[in-house]
Amino acid sequence: EQELADEDDGDLEIRPPVVTVMGHVDHGKTRLLDAIRQTNVTAGEAGGITQHIGAYQIWTEHDGHERAITFIDTPGHEAFTAMRARGAQVTDIAILVVAADDGIMPQTVEALNHAQAAGVPIVVAVNKIDKPDANPARVRQQLTEYGLVAEEYGGDVMFVDVSARENIGIQDLLDAVLLTADAGLDLRANPNKDARGVAIEAKLDKGRGSVATVLIQSGTLRVGDAIVAGTAYGRVRAMMDENGDAVEEAAPARPVQVQGLNSVPRAGDTFLVTDEDRMARQIAEKREAAARNAQLAKARKRISLEDFTRALEEGKVESLNLIIKGDVSGAVEALEESLMKIEVDDTVQLRILHRGVGAVTESDVDLATIDNAIIVGFNVRPDQKARERAQREGVDIRFYSVIYSALEDIENSLKGMLKPEFEEVQSGVAEIREVFRSSKFGNIAGVIVRSGTITRNAKARVIRDGVVVADGLAIESLRRFKDDVTEVREGYECGIGLGKFNDIQVGDEVETTEMVEKPRG
Ligand code: GDP
Repeated sequence: EQELADEDDGDLEIRPPVVTVMGHVDHGKTRLLDAIRQTNVTAGEAGGITQHIGAYQIWTEHDGHERAITFIDTPGHEAFTAMRARGAQVTDIAILVVAADDGIMPQTVEALNHAQAAGVPIVVAVNKIDKPDANPARVRQQLTEYGLVAEEYGGDVMFVDVSARENIGIQDLLDAVLLTADAGLDLRANPNKDARGVAIEAKLDKGRGSVATVLIQSGTLRVGDAIVAGTAYGRVRAMMDENGDAVEEAAPARPVQVQGLNSVPRAGDTFLVTDEDRMARQIAEKREAAARNAQLAKARKRISLEDFTRALEEGKVESLNLIIKGDVSGAVEALEESLMKIEVDDTVQLRILHRGVGAVTESDVDLATIDNAIIVGFNVRPDQKARERAQREGVDIRFYSVIYSALEDIENSLKGMLKPEFEEVQSGVAEIREVFRSSKFGNIAGVIVRSGTITRNAKARVIRDGVVVADGLAIESLRRFKDDVTEVREGYECGIGLGKFNDIQVGDEVETTEMVEKPRG
């Protein structure tokens, strides 16, 4: 956006770092955010009632100086990714929380990949060291495999052992954040101009109308300023901080809750102060129109493997971004390893943004959306939400059940060759609602067809919780009531026999496929 383009600042001043806490569920993100909040050296003086406004700032003593740090108070990488999806990068440093008893888990890897893809430095908080089975050395060792090497092992990532519950190591963690900020990041902003920043969260309040928590990125926001946030606009009627106290002006990296907007902005929307009300309104309207157009253009913009091949031939691209999901870690590793061995000329680069075990999730689709990646699913499927979002965003998800075909496809693309002429496409999905045991015919699945058409003799596989549990099957019998039928369409119930395969359960999905000729672009 042109409004945010030029930052030609004469008088830049140091601003506090903005930190997001990420990590696996139950590893202690929420508890850690609470513990950090309680260390605030000025909290006692404030005297207000603690408010959840989506972010808070604390003051701490570091190196003989009082320093502020801003924390985004919505733990997890979903918020982080949602904001990045809107083009807003508010986080300067990510704290990766890993429970010392559990060690790294799938969402740990997901979180660190999101931070790394965004180029955000990581400080690792090894939490729950009060537990008897805590093993902080193992966490350090495990993370080495993901490129996070602890300083004590010769790397450049700070690891801090903490206990959010027992309040151990919290000050060391804050020091590590400030050291990381001072060492590599030049965090400065000009406070002497009109404010700009990002909306972190917003809601409609019964009494107060639209309330939006904004993070000031540059300039100073004052009560009475005319602002536009996303497509919402208005005059700042009142501002409140995380202690419930009224605020008259807010400097860079300060989160404040703002009242006075005419509607509710979305997380990640940028805001700015304008000279007069009329201008705020005009910008808001222009943005609204632009947002509509962007929505239309977006689905077309995402790259598919075919687009990539074409762009490569035309010399327009140099990197193919991939996200790999598989049913077992061995397969993911094998695929990644083989992919890395593909020899292409060195102008073309293969970047693996994220790899993980399990179904393709919304979070994977988000990452693919932001960094224009293709998702490779090996023996896994997207869950319903991920499927819908991928469709809406136009993200290319490729499914394979043989490593060789995945490799061949991607290698062909990297080499700018045309793709094979046939591809497997999904022809139907049915959900198992009942299982009938029959000694004569093997087990029969009572299903409802969720999408497409189930055809007798079609190739089939069974999917449980997003993972392919059996492949290479066929629809050997297909019945409606007492009749043998050749096909059953979406919305209808029927009985399916999968031949000798008997390991079916209620809730499993039966997916059928057919081979179709590929459209040539
Ligand atoms: P989140 O899902 O990552 O936000 O995790 P929570 O902060 O909700 O913590 C999950 C569970 O771990 C809760 O029962 C916490 O009380 C507990 N927990 C968090 N930090 C610690 C810690 O340092 N030590 C111990 N023993 N338990 C902790």
